[in-house]
Amino acid sequence: MSDHNSPSEPRRDLVGMGRAGLAGEMAGFGAEPFRARQLWHWIYHRGATDFADMTNLAKGFRELLAQRYTLGRPEVSRALASSDGTRKWLIRFADGQEVETVHIPESDRGTLCVSSQVGCTLNCTFCHTGTQRLVRNLGASEIVAQIMVARDALGEWPSPPEGRQLTNIVLMGMGEPLYNYENVAAAMKIVMDPEGLAVSRRKITLSTAGVVPMMARVGAELGVNLAVSLHAVTDELRDQLVPLNRKYPISELLDACRNYPGSSNARRITFEYVMLNGVNDSPAEARELVRLLKGVPAKVNLIPFNPWPGAPYECSTDAAIAAFSDIVFAAGYSAPVRTPRGRDILAACGQLKSESIRARRTVSASLPAA
Ligand code: SAH
Repeated sequence: MSDHNSPSEPRRDLVGMGRAGLAGEMAGFGAEPFRARQLWHWIYHRGATDFADMTNLAKGFRELLAQRYTLGRPEVSRALASSDGTRKWLIRFADGQEVETVHIPESDRGTLCVSSQVGCTLNCTFCHTGTQRLVRNLGASEIVAQIMVARDALGEWPSPPEGRQLTNIVLMGMGEPLYNYENVAAAMKIVMDPEGLAVSRRKITLSTAGVVPMMARVGAELGVNLAVSLHAVTDELRDQLVPLNRKYPISELLDACRNYPGSSNARRITFEYVMLNGVNDSPAEARELVRLLKGVPAKVNLIPFNPWPGAPYECSTDAAIAAFSDIVFAAGYSAPVRTPRGRDILAACGQLKSESIRARRTVSASLPAA
């Protein structure tokens, strides 16, 4: 797990370290264990960005901490607001790499769409991120930092017990979270901690293209909601749209869904299905989808394709989407169509665009290829 501190910044970032890590650092100073707890409260409940504000710590100790550590907030290189209330932050880390984080307000909640990697190795043909080469995994601190930045901007410190604008988190930004599982898991444990950011596991959804061997761990270790990017009902088509399917075909993926720890009719797995005109949107495919999902506690999320320059697809017609949705709905599944949000600021959750990320294809990390 790296902090990606710049060479000119010798201090370590406490954000993203986790409870055990923080306790270990404080023990290294001979500080009593409750000091780590106080720090935790300042960082994740109060949102402190300056050790000087931590008034229940002795002045000398605060100064010592300030010499050794930062309370990192990466630079926000651009902040945009859509006319529909969606907000987007382009976040630049110490090494210059950038990701986008998007906040989507709704009447009864507010969802933050978080990225797990810079770029992606999966090359799904309809996804703009798939046209970019993977640059690197995000560290746990960089994943947590996206939530810290959003809470700063939304003015949600100390953590409000109710009436929050940031209630839900979806790991549907750039990257495949299950190819960066350790860092994603460390970050989500910090986010879920009830004495800090306190976002319940029931309000967190991890979206995967179907990294089958990792799926059970998500349910057993994190207990968050699972979303699966299905997008096709035959292996032949899914091999094309989501090339990861060649490694983990539909039957194996659905078996992993049936066995997902903690799923039930009350906690269903979301199947994402991007609507591509003339490609995967026929009534026959809707009926096949219903057949495939038999025995899986499922809900279906139909996503109108969000086009990007040079994309080889177009979005299904409204009539095709409605017909598809009706068939799925009639079979007893909820099948809402995800309303495109923030299009004027190019902030489609799940398809986060960024000029500067596209332009920069330099450093590469060694990750398992899709
Ligand atoms: N790698 C993970 C998470 C990132 S993508 C995954 O595949 O699930 C999040 C969601 O956005 C996925 O369902 C993805 O298929 C969808 N998506 C990607 N590009 C899109 C586009 N151009 N239009 C609509 N949805 C898209």
